[in-house]
Amino acid sequence: MMSKNIIVCGHGAGDPGAADNGINERDFIRQELAPRIKKYSGGEIEIYDMSKNCYRETKDGRGIHSLKGKIVIEFHLDAASKTSKGGHIIFGAGLKADSLDNRLADVIKKHFGWRHDRAFHPRDNLLNANTAKRIGVNYRLVEVCFVTNPTEVAYLKKNIDQIAKDFAEAITNKVAAGSNKPSTSTPGKYRVYTGIFKTDEEAKKQAKLIGAKLGYKPFPKEKRVWTGVFNTLESAMTAQQKISREFGFNPQIRKED
Ligand SMILES: [Zn+2]
Repeated sequence: MMSKNIIVCGHGAGDPGAADNGINERDFIRQELAPRIKKYSGGEIEIYDMSKNCYRETKDGRGIHSLKGKIVIEFHLDAASKTSKGGHIIFGAGLKADSLDNRLADVIKKHFGWRHDRAFHPRDNLLNANTAKRIGVNYRLVEVCFVTNPTEVAYLKKNIDQIAKDFAEAITNKVAAGSNKPSTSTPGKYRVYTGIFKTDEEAKKQAKLIGAKLGYKPFPKEKRVWTGVFNTLESAMTAQQKISREFGFNPQIRKED
C-alpha cells in the first residue's frame, strides 16, 4: 500500500547541494537519513524517487505536481558559516504551522535548536513551497542543521539513528516501529534495472560499461540493463544511486521472490 507520508530528499541527480565536513546534502539525506526514517516508520512513510531531483521535476510539471493528496516532508541541510547553527522549517508564505510542523520543530529543537531561535520561516521564493501552496499539497521543507558547522555534522552522524527515529515518530505521530536496537538492513533479493534503451545492442553496450566501471554483474534483457542480485535493499539502493550518478538511466529496484 502506498503511504500518505512522503519524504522528498533535497537536490539529487547531478546536484549534490551544499557540501562540507565530509558530507553533502544529496548523499547524506538519501543514504543516511531518509532510509532510516522510513525504516522506523513501520511502512507509513515512502520516499520520493531518490534518483530524481524533485525541484527539477516540479519545473517540468512533475515533482510536487505528482504528490497531490500526500503529506510531503522535504529534507535539506543548511549552509552558511562554520558557526551558524540550528535547524528550521520552511513552508509557503501566509501559511501557518500545522501539528506536523510543530512535531518536526520539536525534533529539531531537541537535537540542534532552532536557527535564530525561530522554528518557522515562511517563504515566497522557493518553487516547491510555492507550487505546493498553489495546488494545495501539504508540504514543508526541513533544514535539519548546518552542513557547514563541524560540531553539528559530528552530532548528526553520531546520533543519526535517534534523530531519524524522532523524525519518524513526528511524521507518523506514533512511537517508532521496531525495538530500540533495530536491524540496519532489509534482507531479501533485489535487482537494479535501468529504463529502456532503443536497441538490444545499446543495452548490451551499456551493461558492459556499467560492469567495467561499477561491477554488479550487469546483463542486458529486453532492452534494459539488469544487475545481479543484492541480498539487502540497502546494498541495492547504493548500487541504484551509483548507477544513477555515473550513468543516469533512471535505475529502479525490483524485489525478487
Ligand atoms: Zn539544500
